[in-house]
Amino acid sequence: MYFGIDIGHNCPPDTGAVSGKHSEDVYTKKVGELVIKQLVQRGHRAVSVTPRRAYGARLRDRIMSSLKQRARKANRLGVDYFVSIHFNAAANRRASGSEIFVYNYHSSARTLAQEVLNRIVALGFRNRKVKTGNFAVLKYTNMPAILIECCFLTSTEDMNRFNVEQMATAIVNGLVGDPPIIVDSSIPGILKVKVNTYAKPSTDQSSSIKRRELYPIDIGEYKAILLGDEEGHYYVKLDDEQIGERKVHYIYSQHAEFLDKVVAGVLKVKVSTYAKPSSDQSSSINPTELYSLEAGEYKGKLLDEQNGHYVVELDKLIGEREVHYIFAQHAEFVVE
Ligand SMILES: [Zn+2]
Repeated sequence: MYFGIDIGHNCPPDTGAVSGKHSEDVYTKKVGELVIKQLVQRGHRAVSVTPRRAYGARLRDRIMSSLKQRARKANRLGVDYFVSIHFNAAANRRASGSEIFVYNYHSSARTLAQEVLNRIVALGFRNRKVKTGNFAVLKYTNMPAILIECCFLTSTEDMNRFNVEQMATAIVNGLVGDPPIIVDSSIPGILKVKVNTYAKPSTDQSSSIKRRELYPIDIGEYKAILLGDEEGHYYVKLDDEQIGERKVHYIYSQHAEFLDKVVAGVLKVKVSTYAKPSSDQSSSINPTELYSLEAGEYKGKLLDEQNGHYVVELDKLIGEREVHYIFAQHAEFVVE
C-alpha cells in the first residue's frame, strides 16, 4: 500500500500548538518520520506530503496554502491513504486522550481510523472516539483520509504516557495490521495434531497451494520446535519425523495444539509497562491488578505466548501474582 503521511503543521506560519516544553511541530515530525520509516521497513510505500513553504498575501491564505498543498501532493502522487498526524491542546488541562477525524463517517476512512485508534488506546490513552471533522486536508484529498490527534500536549497524564516510538508503532499497526509474532527464540515442545491435516509451505489456504507442496500429516504427537505463530498457523520444525521434503511447516492452529516445555530465561523489559493478569488491554483491567514493571532484566520462565503477550513467571515477585502477561512489544524474552 502507498501512504501519504501529512506531518502536521511544520510550515510557517502554519505552526502547531505549544505547551511548556511540548511542541506539536516537534512531535508530529518525530512521529511522522518514524511512521514513514516503519511503513517502508514493512514493505509499503510512504512519503511525506508536508510542504516546505506556504504562499499567499494574508496569514489566512498562507495557512490554507499549507493545507491545500498537502492534499494536492497526495492526489498528484495517487497514494492509497492519507494520514495526517497532529497533537491536541486545550485550555482545560484535564482534557486528555486520543481521537481521529474523518470527513465522512460512512466511509472506508472510518474503518481505518478505528483500527489506528484501537492501537493508540491500547497504549493507555483515553478513547475520544472516531469523529467527523471538516478539515481542509480531509476535504480536498481524493483517497480515504484520516487526521490523528495523537494525544494532548496540555495533559500531564498524556505527556507522561507519550512515547514517540510506541505512538508511531501503534499508528503503523493500525494502518497495515499487527506484525506476525515471531517467537524470538525457538520453543521446544510437542505438536499435537488433532485432525488429519496438511503441513503447508506458507499460511495460504491449502486450496491455493500447489498439491506437491502439501504434505498430509496425521493425527498424533510430534516432537517439534515452534519457530513462530503467524496468521493462525504454527510455524514449526519437526524434530524426528520428516514430513515430505521440508524441515519446516505451517500447520493451521485450529487443527493442532502446541504444548511447550517451560523455558527458562530473562525477560528484558524495554519500556516501563504493566504486568497484567491477562492479555486484555490495561485500560480494561482493574487498576489494582496492574503492577508497574520498570525497564530492566528479570529472570524467570516463559510459560506461553498469547495474543501478543508473553506469559511469564518471574523469579522476583511482582505484586501479588506468580504469573503475569507482558505486552510483547514492550519486552523480549531471551532463552538462557
Ligand atoms: Zn495540529
